[in-house]
Amino acid sequence: MLNISITKTTNPKAKPQDESKLGFGRIFTDHMFMMDYYDGAWHDARIVPFDYIPIHPASTVLHYGVEIFEGMKAYRNADGKIRMFRPIENARRMNNSAERLCLPEIPEEDFVQILDTLVELDKDWIPHSEGTSLYIRPFTYGNDEHLGVHPVKNATFCVILSPVGPYYAEGINPVKIAIESHDVRAVRGGTGYAKCGGNYAASLRAGDRAEKQGITQVLWLDGVERKYIEEVGSMNVMFMIDDEIITPELTGSVLPGITRKSCVELLKDKGYKVSERLISVDELITAAKEGRLQEAWGTGTAAVVSPIGWLYYEGCEYTMNGGKIGPVTQWLYDTLTAIQWGYAADTKHWCHEVCDE
Ligand SMILES: *Cc1c(COP(=O)(O)O)cnc(C)c1O
Repeated sequence: MLNISITKTTNPKAKPQDESKLGFGRIFTDHMFMMDYYDGAWHDARIVPFDYIPIHPASTVLHYGVEIFEGMKAYRNADGKIRMFRPIENARRMNNSAERLCLPEIPEEDFVQILDTLVELDKDWIPHSEGTSLYIRPFTYGNDEHLGVHPVKNATFCVILSPVGPYYAEGINPVKIAIESHDVRAVRGGTGYAKCGGNYAASLRAGDRAEKQGITQVLWLDGVERKYIEEVGSMNVMFMIDDEIITPELTGSVLPGITRKSCVELLKDKGYKVSERLISVDELITAAKEGRLQEAWGTGTAAVVSPIGWLYYEGCEYTMNGGKIGPVTQWLYDTLTAIQWGYAADTKHWCHEVCDE
């Protein structure tokens, strides 16, 4: 067991009164976790009052973007317990990301213990309304205090918590997605499979251009041939064509989403034909033109499942299921959220109990 020291705030903040206005990642709880890596080991695991982090102007993260993160949620369940969804998967992925960026790894059981301790301490911040949750953001950054370009010898791991509102405050409305044929997010051999800040830095321009045209997110193509579908913004993507559910295989440039993995399992259990394979933009557009593209949706922790109503490519618009959420998308959303919110039996043992309410 990791020894975590706890310094409680003497100045607790007022909790948000109107849970319908929480939004995403704008409000933070009273405490945060930190520990520092130096001399080849993690030191000084501590929970402290939420505050600014002083940083050396030459710190590696500020210059070379050596940073990785995770995103997960804790939910107030129907039975009064507080649970997280598959935290061990986040622990593993965080370590895979760390390996890619030469950042220090964290033992999986320590990672889960840290989250349990912090979430329990700030559990009163978990909102109560339907669809709300506590978003958990663990992150590690390189923190050498010089400008040399090397794998870091110093790093900091931090966890912050943010109460978030229901993603679909106005019901599940399908989004507009544009296929991006210029910018790319990641290439094989690069950092696409790692959850690192740099991937997002590279994706902002295309996202911004799309947003100015009223489009929610971009659909990325592979970075070499701009031929194969990779993923959407901060979500993995799934298409249903001729009753086959297709999601791009994990080739190294696609982020291995935990929601993606869970959806694939649930769909297969239900008897759907699910293929993790390459899918080219030609195959997709041809299917759309011929009316064989039945449904499309994104998957990720924030939205869980996000239906795609309209696709844009080379100046043309393609509408899916009349711009309405399709039956498979709806089933998937209902099934997965029922497990996460504790309305359905957790037969797969995906939910990890943190504490009582
Ligand atoms: C986090 C993330 C996802 C979704 O992963 P989940 O584990 O399902 O939340 C998909 N794509 C990118 C680029 C991501 O950063």
